[in-house]
Amino acid sequence: MASGPNLHDIYYAALLARDPTYAGRIFVGVATTGIFCRLTCPARKPKSENCRFMEGTGACLEAGFRPCKRCRPLEAVDQPDPGLTKLVELIDRDPSRRWSERDLVAMGLDPSTVRRGFKRCFGMTFLQMARLRRLRRGSEILAQGGRVIDAQLEAGFDSGSGFRASFTRVLGHSPASLKTP
Ligand SMILES: [Zn+2]
Repeated sequence: MASGPNLHDIYYAALLARDPTYAGRIFVGVATTGIFCRLTCPARKPKSENCRFMEGTGACLEAGFRPCKRCRPLEAVDQPDPGLTKLVELIDRDPSRRWSERDLVAMGLDPSTVRRGFKRCFGMTFLQMARLRRLRRGSEILAQGGRVIDAQLEAGFDSGSGFRASFTRVLGHSPASLKTP
């Protein structure tokens, strides 16, 4: 079994970035404190080797972790506008799609209202979230042992250099570093 980066590294990068992509789905249990958090928790981030990523709060509780008093993982997140939630679902449903503001207009939405709503609820714009999702999709493929070219195409990039540059800038490591030989 090659010891390469994997889902753990992907989640850890999301934890460091306080990236809301996995909000409500993936939580982190910290071995040294016995506490579990949302990936977006404002508290200081633990070392990677002390993190255990789990799906759902139930798994965290079962594993014996207590909920963090700062990010309160058991409480529902401030419910964003249902319109915004629907857009997040659209991104999730088609993670390779290259969205543009024109798509928003076509759905009868005002791009600047969407931009403000997203910034407020998620700390990033709709287009930034869509892009991040595409890159994450690519990194998931690589973590599962897929080819860089497949990850690139799934992430919606025509050019390999564009994919590598965005990937490295946003995720903090190159696609090749995720690829297990
Ligand atoms: Zn926390």
